[in-house]
Amino acid sequence: MRLQGKVAVATGVCGGIGQSILRKLVDEGARVIAVDLSGDSLDKLKKDYGDEVTTTVADVTKYADVEAMIAEAIDQYGQVDVVINNAGIAFPKPLLEHDPDKDFDGVTAVNQKGVYHGILAAGKAMKKQGRGGVIINTSSVYGTMASELTFAYNVSKAAVDMMTKCAALEYGPHKIRVCAVAPGRVDTPMLHQYKDLGLWDHIRREHMRDEFTQPEEIAEVIAFLASDAANCINGTTIYAADGFENF
Ligand code: NAD
Repeated sequence: MRLQGKVAVATGVCGGIGQSILRKLVDEGARVIAVDLSGDSLDKLKKDYGDEVTTTVADVTKYADVEAMIAEAIDQYGQVDVVINNAGIAFPKPLLEHDPDKDFDGVTAVNQKGVYHGILAAGKAMKKQGRGGVIINTSSVYGTMASELTFAYNVSKAAVDMMTKCAALEYGPHKIRVCAVAPGRVDTPMLHQYKDLGLWDHIRREHMRDEFTQPEEIAEVIAFLASDAANCINGTTIYAADGFENF
């Protein structure tokens, strides 16, 4: 129980990776504020977990929502120790087909600005409470790798990596760590979108194991980073990508 006594807030908990993060946080003893866009999906989680978690609807593109989800942790449990900025969207579309009025901004709003909101609101709350904390952002191998079809996504994840470094530097004196996890190909609904694009065989070949990373494996890395066992890891993005980053 590496997170006993900690209060964690995690976004995107209804998604493929988020559901595993939530399970892991609870199993490790954390009290959790579970956040996603849709009340309906959260209601299902509430049935599964009962009083073990508090569910909250928030749109991470809105700073007021993100501030409110952190405030919820403090209202419910008196503190916030871990914030996991996991919500994100995929956007596979060739750059030359982009609508400049909406496509880039749409991805940036969730993947980049959503994480920025989380880092900022968590940092302010953790600094004020004066007991340190950990912020973990879900990045992607695409933060450092070029790829076709996912221009806006890759740019947003590169921003996540840089925000992680800069925030860690500024927050360090307040004993707040900021890290990121970069998955490669995780077996979730987000990944299965590529089946519809006819790219399934191609992406399978990119993987070093003959199977995709499982969401539980990403949650395991996140739980480690959130724990005191990872106190010397700060400002960095950890690849949890089955070696995909080496291709
Ligand atoms: P998913 O689509 O299964 O889940 C994403 C979750 O984020 C959903 O529950 C969705 O409702 C939520 N969300 C979307 N927009 C939101 C918003 N504005 N406010 C609040 N919540 C919002 O995706 P996933 O595979 O679980 O991905 C989780 C994270 O992992 C994302 O940041 C993604 O970029 C990253 N990632 C995924 C893979 C993969 O292969 N699946 C690989 C690398 C990185």
